Amino acid sequence: MGTILRTNHLTKKYGNNSVVKDLSLTVHEGDIYGFIGKNGAGKTTLIRMIAGLAKPTEGNLLLFGGQNLTAARANIGTVIENPALYPNMTARNNMMVQVKLKGESPEQIDRLLELVGLADTGKKKAKNFSLGMRQRLAIAVALIGSPKFLILDEPTNGLDPQGIREIRELIVRLNKEEKITVLISSHILSELSKFATRYGIIHNGQLVEEFTKQELLERQGETPTEHDNDLEDYFLQKIAGI
Ligand code: ATP
Repeated sequence: MGTILRTNHLTKKYGNNSVVKDLSLTVHEGDIYGFIGKNGAGKTTLIRMIAGLAKPTEGNLLLFGGQNLTAARANIGTVIENPALYPNMTARNNMMVQVKLKGESPEQIDRLLELVGLADTGKKKAKNFSLGMRQRLAIAVALIGSPKFLILDEPTNGLDPQGIREIRELIVRLNKEEKITVLISSHILSELSKFATRYGIIHNGQLVEEFTKQELLERQGETPTEHDNDLEDYFLQKIAGI
């Protein structure tokens, strides 16, 4: 099993403020890596560095085992913060624009829209989509070019339970059927505990802990689907215990 991402002692400072501090984490091939932290913990900053949108102040990172990040980033799909969609265009036309921008073949559009559950949206414009539909369209855009690694920054923020479930099912499908490694951030552990395979907890810019789903279950001695509240307590204890 290969390593998809390794960050080595990554630090990002804005002025004198270190928003990511000496952060080393590893995402293995096949992982659904849940990156958990409260608002302002530094999740988006780390993700922006991985995607090449922010420059590390110190440390470095490897993608697919190498340091040629520009080439490697062609194999990454990202949905960061508010994804840019064209509100007056249909799902299909949004995809068409992005496919052309990326120099990719339009032949993949139908399959990707099918994959994210937006194949039947017809003439409906993106501005009339639910937030969940918009997120899934943003994921379809990120999937153009068949990336091996998908990075999603808080994709379930603001979604209702059904929207959250749809995103969860989509991510699991992408991971299992399309063999895509996923890094997903959230401020709610119990939301990711249903499907993430590994976890990293970030607090004040530092990686407090990394553990597997199995380790989480062993510590809890219980199954997460039935004990979401305990998991939430566990998370809060971790944060409070620093
Ligand atoms: P959220 O879920 O609220 O986005 P987060 O964990 O993603 O939280 P970041 O967005 O990475 O956190 O922000 C971490 C800290 O870095 C915050 O205190 C934020 O104000 C600060 N920060 C982020 N970007 C900048 C910037 N460009 N200049 C100065 N400070 C910044």
